[in-house]
Amino acid sequence: MDLNLKGKVALIAASSRGLGKAIAAELAAEGAEVMLTSRNREHLKNVQQEILPTARGKVEFFPCDITNDDEINALFKATRQRLGNLDILINNAGGPPGGGFEQIDDTAWQAAFELNLLSYVRLIRAALPDLKQGGGRIINITSSSIKQPIPGLVLSNAFRMGVLGLAKSLADELAPFNILVTTVAPGRIGTDRTDYLDQLKADQRGIDKQQVVNESLQNIPLRRYGDPVEFARAVCFLASDASSYMTGSTLLVDGGMVRGY
Ligand code: NAD
Repeated sequence: MDLNLKGKVALIAASSRGLGKAIAAELAAEGAEVMLTSRNREHLKNVQQEILPTARGKVEFFPCDITNDDEINALFKATRQRLGNLDILINNAGGPPGGGFEQIDDTAWQAAFELNLLSYVRLIRAALPDLKQGGGRIINITSSSIKQPIPGLVLSNAFRMGVLGLAKSLADELAPFNILVTTVAPGRIGTDRTDYLDQLKADQRGIDKQQVVNESLQNIPLRRYGDPVEFARAVCFLASDASSYMTGSTLLVDGGMVRGY
């Protein structure tokens, strides 16, 4: 199967670590021209150096806080100047803080809206002039919470559904431009985020983090957390020409964790 990613320009939001970084590395290894971005220049520079040895295209970086619209516009300007017209937008962001409904105040609700929903809206808006020219891919990274709520993560449970609704609307509106919009939902993939959530649960219950991990594994048929590379490969497929008839759809990468149909 030819992914035909060579020379495609891809912007990966929140790519200084975890899932975003793994997606950027996979796309670069497949020959895409990659723009890395997150808030910290030093982190981005390190990721660029890490990815370059296996990259088969350019790897650039530009710092941007994706909750700031001016910074997003500067990011797209830099991407066009350095790599050319965008073909692939990967929307991704840091996760919202953990907590149940009564632990979350308005400030946290507003911050999660800006980070986990409005940033995707703004990134898509900024990417559309490019994507409309020759078609392309928009891939939104969300969470298994789009299929079943995660206890103690009310912000994720609420805002990921907004991303899903957005993707479904856009699949309709952007199909005439051959822009395919998909959603990828991670279950438990081993990153700093998973670590943070396991530690949070352990602290709340006064138990060891390993016990939380063990309980989590009992709920995953494959009995392990995913590797970010395994997640990134699924995203690469959706970003590629090999995926030409999937739009508006959602792909779970969760080792079988979600039991629903
Ligand atoms: P992570 O915490 O390891 O990485 C988050 C990335 O987001 C970092 O690069 C960070 O610098 C960047 N970031 C945070 N705030 C930003 C901002 N304002 N502007 C620009 N960049 C910003 O998280 P991850 O595990 O890679 O997960 C990525 C997303 O997927 C998160 O939203 C997370 O909640 C979600 N998710 C992950 C899992 C999993 O198993 N890892 C499961 C469900 C959902």
